[in-house]
Amino acid sequence: MKDYTCLFCEDIYTDQDLASLKEIGEKYHLEAELFVCPDCYDDLRRLPLEEQLKALLLGSEYEWEEE
Ligand SMILES: [Zn+2]
Repeated sequence: MKDYTCLFCEDIYTDQDLASLKEIGEKYHLEAELFVCPDCYDDLRRLPLEEQLKALLLGSEYEWEEE
């Protein structure tokens, strides 16, 4: 079994967690070793594309703007 750590909040998800997320239709982001959990992915998707890329580069260092 493989664990994935969210790039932003550092929550840990397993293969099995991801499989059940997929079942209930939750969206997350997984690319090579890069994992973003559904909560953070939701926030990420609200950002303009340029900010999304910046956030992905900075990971947990990224400063989210408070609304
Ligand atoms: Zn997260």
